[in-house]
Amino acid sequence: MEIDAMYENLGICKKVLDFGKKIEDNLKDRFQEIDENAEYNQMKVIKAMQDNRVSDIHFAATTGYGYNDLGRDTLEDVYASVFHTESALVRPNLISGTHALSIALSGNLRPGDELLSPAGKPYDTLEEVIGIRESTGSLKEYGVIYRQVDLLPNGTFDYESIKKAINERTKLITIQRSKGYDTRPTFSVSQIGELIAFVKEIKPDVICMVDNCYGEFVERMEPSDVGADMIVGSLIKNPGGGLAPIGGYIAGKTECIDKASYRLTAPGLGKEVGASLGLNQAFYQGLFLSPTVVAGALKGAVFAANVYEKLGFQVVPNGSESRHDIIQAVTFGNPEGVIAFCQGIQAAAPVDSFVSPEPWDMPGYDAPVIMAAGAFVQGSSIELSADGPIKPPYAVYFQGGLTWYHAKLGILMSLQKLLDAGLVQI
Ligand SMILES: *Cc1c(COP(=O)(O)O)cnc(C)c1O
Repeated sequence: MEIDAMYENLGICKKVLDFGKKIEDNLKDRFQEIDENAEYNQMKVIKAMQDNRVSDIHFAATTGYGYNDLGRDTLEDVYASVFHTESALVRPNLISGTHALSIALSGNLRPGDELLSPAGKPYDTLEEVIGIRESTGSLKEYGVIYRQVDLLPNGTFDYESIKKAINERTKLITIQRSKGYDTRPTFSVSQIGELIAFVKEIKPDVICMVDNCYGEFVERMEPSDVGADMIVGSLIKNPGGGLAPIGGYIAGKTECIDKASYRLTAPGLGKEVGASLGLNQAFYQGLFLSPTVVAGALKGAVFAANVYEKLGFQVVPNGSESRHDIIQAVTFGNPEGVIAFCQGIQAAAPVDSFVSPEPWDMPGYDAPVIMAAGAFVQGSSIELSADGPIKPPYAVYFQGGLTWYHAKLGILMSLQKLLDAGLVQI
C-alpha cells in the first residue's frame, strides 16, 4: 500500500506498522466516542463565537495600555460562554498555567485565610507558589495558611477528613483535575462536581477553584458546569489548540475574576488594561481548533496505552478505561526503555527531528530527566511530547499531538526505537 511506503520512508518497519494496525483496528469504537465528543465541543465553541459576534475587527492588535481592546474583551466573553461562567480573564500576560493559578490564588486570598487542597499534593510548581516548599514571594509569606487532605489509598476523596479540615478560615479550595505527573487517577468532571457539592454543603461561601490543565474538551462538561467558582488553565495546552504562542486563562464568577485581574495588572486597573499585541487571532483560532486537536491527542494516548499494554508494560490509564485528561504514562522498568521511547517521539517530530534527547540534571528534580519535544511553541505540551525521570519505576509521561496522524507516527517510532534496541519483541 502506498501509505505503508510513506511510513517506511520515515523509518517505520513493516513489523511495527502491522502491529500498530492490529491495535488500531480494535479502537474504532473508542475513536468514535472521542470524535463525537469533539463534535459536541466544536459546536459549543462555534456557538460561543457566534453568540458573541466574533468578527474580523477582533483580530486587530492593540499596544500600550490596551484600553478598549475589543478583541481581548470579546475573547474573554467567548471563553465565559464556552465554559458557562460569568466572566473570564484570557491573556498573553498570563504567561503559563502556573502563573494563571498563582494569580487566581493570590488575587482571591488574604492574610489569615486558609487554602485547602482536598485532593492531595498539588502540581510541583504550585508548591513554591503556595509555600509548601520555601520560596520567596509565596502565599505563605503573605500569611496564607495551607492545609491538605490526602486522597485515600484507592485514589478517592477522604470526605471524612475534608469535613474536619474545613473551618471558619477556609476561604478557597483548590482541586487539580489532572493527575499531572503523579500516580493517582485523574478526576472526572462528575467526581469533581460531587466534591464541590460536598464542600459547599459544609461551607457555601468557600471558593472552589479547579486546576483544569490538560482537561479542557476531554469531556462534554467542564468543572465550571458542576459548581466550580473558578477554572484555570494554560493556553499552550488544550484550549490554545496549538496556535496560541503563550497565555493562560481564568474563567469563573465575576467577583473572583475581577479580584484576579487586580492582581494581574494593578488595583484600580484590573481587566481594563493589557494590550493583546496582535495575538488575538491565534487565541481565537486556537480555541476554535482545540476540540479536534484534543481529540487527536486523546486518540494518541489511547493508542499508546493499547500498544504498550499489549507488550506487557504497565500503562496508566489502562487501554480500556475512560479518559479525563490527555496524559498517558507507560512504565518501562528500566532507563533504556524510557530513553528509547523519548528518542522515538523526538525522531517523529516536524521540528528538531534530527536531534536525539539525552537525560540531564534539570534544576528542581532529584534525578536526571529526559524530555522529547519537537514543538513549534517552546514547551507546548498540546504538541506531541514526552518526558520521564531516570529513576524507578522508569515511567515515561506522554501527551499531546496536534493531529492524530502525528501522534500515531510518534508512538510507532517509539516502538521502532524500542525494537531496534532489543527492548521489546513483537
Ligand atoms: C502544566 C500544569 C500546570 C502548570 O502549567 P505550566 O504552564 O507548565 O506552568 C499546573 N497544573 C497542572 C495539572 C498541569 O498539568
